[in-house]
Parts: sequence; C-alpha cells; structure tokens
Amino acid sequence: MNTINAFTVDLEDWYQGIGINMSEWNKYEKRIRIGHDRLLSLLSKHKVKATYFVLGKVIEEHPDIIKEIIDEGHEISCHSYSHPFLYDITPEQFTHELDKCIELIKPFGVNYKGFRAPYFSIDHRNLWALDIIKQKGFEYDSSIYPGDNKRTGIKGYNKNIHLLDNQLYEVPVCTFKFLIFEPALGGAYFRILPYNIFKKKFREISQLRPVIFYIHPWEFDLDHPYLSKLPPRIRYPHYYGLKYTEPKMQKLLNDFEFKPLFNIIKELNFESYER
Ligand SMILES: [Zn+2]
Repeated sequence: MNTINAFTVDLEDWYQGIGINMSEWNKYEKRIRIGHDRLLSLLSKHKVKATYFVLGKVIEEHPDIIKEIIDEGHEISCHSYSHPFLYDITPEQFTHELDKCIELIKPFGVNYKGFRAPYFSIDHRNLWALDIIKQKGFEYDSSIYPGDNKRTGIKGYNKNIHLLDNQLYEVPVCTFKFLIFEPALGGAYFRILPYNIFKKKFREISQLRPVIFYIHPWEFDLDHPYLSKLPPRIRYPHYYGLKYTEPKMQKLLNDFEFKPLFNIIKELNFESYER
C-alpha cells in the first residue's frame, strides 16, 4: 500500500525559529518572500496542495503572502503568534497566542484547520496545551515528536494519526531510528541526509502511515544572513546544505504524492468522525 502523504510548511522567516525572542526580530532583514515564492511555485508546478502552519507575526507583516497561499488552494493552519517554546509559557499566555492568531486570520475568511507548536514543543511537560487547542476550535494538532530530539519529544508515543480523549486529532511528525539519532522526515534532516536515504525512509514509513513531511520557506533562500553567534547546535542544522533544498524538493515532489493534512484525516474514516 502506498499512502498519500502530507506536505506541510511552517511559514516563518529565517530568524523566527532559532530561539531569538520576538522583541529582537526587527533587527533582522525580512526575507520570507524569497523562499516563499520559490516554494509556492514548486508546489504549483507539481500540482501539490500543502498545509501551511502560519505564524501570526507573518500574517501581520505579510498579508499578501497569506492571500497567495489561500488563493492557491492550500490549507491554512496555525503555528502560534510569536514562536515560543510552548513548555516555557503558561496556559494563559498560550491562550493569548491562539486568540491573537484567530483574530489575525478572520479578515481572510478562512478558519484554521490545525495547530503545530513551534519546535514541536508539546511533550510530557505541557500536554495541557492540547485541551486549549481543542477548546479554541482546531480540528487537529501536529505538535508531537514521537521520539527524542534532545529538546522535545515523547519516546514511545503513538506514531499514527489518532483521536485523543478530548476528541482532537493528533498527527505526530514522522520519526525514525538512524544510528544513534531519531530524525524526522523534514526540515534540517531533509537537507542533511543524502536523498536516497531520505527517500528510502520516506517510502518505508509511507507504507505504514501517511508521511507528515515539513519544510520552511527560508530553506529555499541560500543567501540569508549567517549568524555566527548562534550556538553550534542551532547554527549547523540551520545553514547546512541549503543549496540542496530545491533540487531535492524537485525529486521528492516527483517521487511521492501529497494532500493537505485535514483531507488525509477525513479520509482515514475514523468511526467517531462526525464533522
Ligand atoms: Zn517554526
């Protein structure tokens, strides 16, 4: 069985997901347009409809980009407002983040389908976040890293799309064992692993369950500024192999089929699916 997979994009600029506080963001050059244009045209060329987890701050600063994504027929989901580690904030702060995002998307006439935590930062420390996501009307969550990636993750967590007790669908990212690591099918791992290894893992997992692939627009922007002061643990994976993103993506889009995430959930025919 070859399943249909989900192509997901965490829509944020190059400086927004590397542990820099939002109060510092105005010091950096806004370049999201560069990577966004390349990614959007690749998706259009391959006739792939993706799921975009959009950062609230990006909606505020680049409404034109959000409109283009909606006009192209991609699914809109939420990636918080200010990209915090969710286990470092309170339930009240998280509620405020979601409320702000919900207000920001209203003028576009669409509702968010799902939510993804920045840095996949829902783990055993803050499972309460899943109840807030449900209460705020989201259909699914895609925040759990079912493995160990050092700063987040839940070892042994159910890797399949499943319905939580609170009736929210959980869509864990796809992780696998590789040497002593537990990488995921997307982001830096997509650039770091040779394409034939990535493709083999993708194919293996896609025979078990839909692959939830993820990428960021800045990974298509080879020339964004190099921040030498970032800790090596963040700097190496951020900048490694950016020149490979686009050629590898051409191959990936030829080799596999993709659909928006919520379409996949609906087609899984959960007995309790009533919406
Ligand atoms: Zn992010």
